[in-house]
Amino acid sequence: MKEFKVAIIGGGPAGMIAAIAASKNSDSVILLEKTDSLGKKLLLTGGGRCNITNGSSIKEHLKLSNNFLKHSFYSFSNDDLLDFFKSKGIDFQEESYKNVFPKNKNAQDILNVLENTLNNLNVDIELSFKVGKIIKKNDYFIINDTIKARNIIIATGGITYPSTGSSGDGYKIVKTFNHDISEIKYGLVPLVSKNLYLTALSGTPLDNILVKYKKSSSSKTVLISHFGLTGPGILDLSSEISKNLTYDILNYETKFPDNLNISIDFQPKINRDELNNKIINEIPLNGKTKIKNYLKTYLSNKLIDFFLNEINVNGDNTLSNISKKDKNKIIENLKGFNIKIDGLYKDLSKVTIGGIPTNEINPKTMESKIVKNLYFAGEILEPASISGGYNLQIAFSTGHLAGSVINEKN
Ligand SMILES: Cc1cc2nc3c(=O)[nH]c(=O)nc-3n(C[C@H](O)[C@H](O)[C@H](O)COP(=O)(O)OP(=O)(O)OC[C@H]3O[C@@H](n4cnc5c(N)ncnc54)[C@H](O)[C@@H]3O)c2cc1C
Repeated sequence: MKEFKVAIIGGGPAGMIAAIAASKNSDSVILLEKTDSLGKKLLLTGGGRCNITNGSSIKEHLKLSNNFLKHSFYSFSNDDLLDFFKSKGIDFQEESYKNVFPKNKNAQDILNVLENTLNNLNVDIELSFKVGKIIKKNDYFIINDTIKARNIIIATGGITYPSTGSSGDGYKIVKTFNHDISEIKYGLVPLVSKNLYLTALSGTPLDNILVKYKKSSSSKTVLISHFGLTGPGILDLSSEISKNLTYDILNYETKFPDNLNISIDFQPKINRDELNNKIINEIPLNGKTKIKNYLKTYLSNKLIDFFLNEINVNGDNTLSNISKKDKNKIIENLKGFNIKIDGLYKDLSKVTIGGIPTNEINPKTMESKIVKNLYFAGEILEPASISGGYNLQIAFSTGHLAGSVINEKN
């Protein structure tokens, strides 16, 4: 039986960076990956461009995830991550919302750097190796009865996009070590709407808006699609919606509430009274203007017919003929236009919410508090964040921490 200082289960970003950090002292490290290649999900990130991290402060990263990650974020920050890739020749650019992408817009380059580094450090890589069973015997873990390791890092990811290999295997493995799994849910998931008039506007972006669900809101872009709504504004809200629903992720059914709405504020910079005054002031100046033309001030052209149809206001009426009721309806809906949501588009969920509870792991090392020498990294952990590079940073920071801690052990 081959023996290693550490075996890392899962060749995603968390597992790859963990293997790199663990092998800096030329220690014997093996990386075990179920599929026939490393980083399948990484290649899909950012639409193939890899939104690798976010340029906001570590405090912001923490606010958007979980304080449990504090030590890992500070020990391998967004700057450290970018420096690592810059030292291997990759340049980056920061785009809207401080999202950071490689300049040449190619996730493959990020994967190439990780693979080359693993090879240069002589990490043993076993592809098409599905870890099914790990048992602990004295000071060793025995994997699939064939590999012996003194330490283990489980970096098997979550349960979304199973075609990339992340199909929830890790949850079963950790349960055999008496770890719990907190309720897991789809996160960063597009929302289905059956409103055919809305979906006919597929491809329309909604910018400079505020999209709201209960107390959560996002000012990022919302994109209308053929199935409903997506775009970063929707993805960020969706995690909140998903957390509030009762469902079993392994057996998701569309028993969706009948009355789930999100609302869009098309004029977040002004309040209702200001909007009312603007319209009233406009009447003596441009009374002959049709309502549908006047609305171009507030809505993109494509949306106007849909908006008027949904709120049942005749857009051919002129401003001077507008009834108080219609004016109020327009104001109410410009400030809070409700869209009924009929489901989660689960197959496009980008991240799993929930996982191994943070209170079962030492945040300074990523080691299990239940089993010595057992470590975790990446999406298998409970915390998840919003869209914008924050989730890859979690994977890289926690993977790097676990690998570094093992690297420093005898
Ligand atoms: C379409 C899409 C786009 C995304 N875009 C972004 C983005 O731009 N920015 C961002 O920050 N985040 C993004 N994410 C989220 C991000 O990709 C994940 O959070 C990140 O990949 C998690 O890394 P990980 O290493 O923990 O897990 P994964 O990347 O899921 O890797 C886990 C690995 O473990 C392997 N594995 C699983 N079970 C076993 C087993 N039994 N034995 C051996 N190996 C096993 C899997 O095959 C897989 O290779 C996106 C996700 C998706 C799906």
